[in-house]
Amino acid sequence: MDLASFLRDVPDFPKPGILFKDITPMLASAEAMHAAVDQLAAFDFGKIDRVGAIESRGFLFGVPLAMKLGVGFVPVRKPGKLPWKTNRVEYVLEYGTDAVEIHQDGVHAGERVLLVDDLMATGGTMGAACQLVEACGGTVAGCACVVELKFLNGRARLGSHRFESLIAID
Ligand code: AMP
Repeated sequence: MDLASFLRDVPDFPKPGILFKDITPMLASAEAMHAAVDQLAAFDFGKIDRVGAIESRGFLFGVPLAMKLGVGFVPVRKPGKLPWKTNRVEYVLEYGTDAVEIHQDGVHAGERVLLVDDLMATGGTMGAACQLVEACGGTVAGCACVVELKFLNGRARLGSHRFESLIAID
């Protein structure tokens, strides 16, 4: 199945100059979603204890992936959304900073966590999610996205963590 055909390019969203990769056509197809989750599950990252995913489109792939792998799920969210005690990591954007949070008990010491998002652009969000897992005492088993904007070289912000994508856009 050509998963890339289930992406819709939306120019100038959410602001001028951004070519937004809209995944709603993929969400609309049960076959495409099954294929995407199956392909994410097929990457061999070794033993996985938990899947973590990044608000909000990452959840759409992370929860079914966790269920397929037979492990629990932990959400990574923007500040102020999680109700319990959190760890926070700030990261640098082109202009300014952003932050993500995780529940302090969302990852237990020694757990191997697979991090998932719909898309990696600059890698800032995924890199911060890796730091959150490590702040909880967990280990990043690997990182995976449905779409990778390769020309932004987001992998450089993931250190030595392994990264895989289903659709790499040059
Ligand atoms: P980054 O931290 O730069 O890697 O940005 C990744 C996050 O921003 C992901 O959660 C994506 O959902 C979102 N994102 C960034 N750029 C795009 C884009 N061109 N199309 C769709 N989503 C994007």
